[in-house]
Amino acid sequence: MHSTWSDGFESIESIASYSKKIGYEYVGITDHSQSLKVAHGLSEERVVKKINQIEKINKKLKNFRVLCGTECDIKPNGTLDYSDKILKKFDFVCAGIHSNFKMDSNEATARTIKAIENEYVTFLAHPTCRLMRRREPFDLDMEKIFDTAKETNTYLEINSFPDRLDLNDIHAKLAKERGVNFVIATDAHTLNHLSFIRFGIATARRGWLRKKDILNAHSLKEVEKILGM
Ligand SMILES: [Zn+2]
Repeated sequence: MHSTWSDGFESIESIASYSKKIGYEYVGITDHSQSLKVAHGLSEERVVKKINQIEKINKKLKNFRVLCGTECDIKPNGTLDYSDKILKKFDFVCAGIHSNFKMDSNEATARTIKAIENEYVTFLAHPTCRLMRRREPFDLDMEKIFDTAKETNTYLEINSFPDRLDLNDIHAKLAKERGVNFVIATDAHTLNHLSFIRFGIATARRGWLRKKDILNAHSLKEVEKILGM
């Protein structure tokens, strides 16, 4: 979810204590990256400050961990909005497209594939970028996306936000059949938004996904191992 470091409405401390209270063992913070000015994206200097703050918060927490991630913008040419030096500092990197939506199928697919191939990308956010009743999904070559995700061991997000629900159920099932794994994310900007997780879970179940297919259905210990933390 997003915190007050970018366009969220809650501090990392309050996100951590609330998430612990509702039964989570960990929460991933994914503030926006530098080029997303409208969402107060973080400069590389501010990323370092945020990482330090999370380290301090984690030292105080018992049986809970804040994972420091980013929702890193994918630029029109498919490169990411942070240098590798910064990307490697995060616990995980979620990469997403937030601008230049007017692209044909080939361009949009190439842009997405290039991001998936970046070795620091853990998962691809809202893969088709649809916004219900506002923006049509990208016309991506989904099979190519799924195969690249499988090859590079990149997870695909099921975004639980009600106007996104992206991947959808049909894509989730097709991706699973091609060996892809998933993250179910809320994209929350407030504490209440965390309850959206049920829509993501419903989408995953409609796509016949199981617990083992979902990174964040695993325990903190397992996630730390998978992410090499
Ligand atoms: Zn996003």
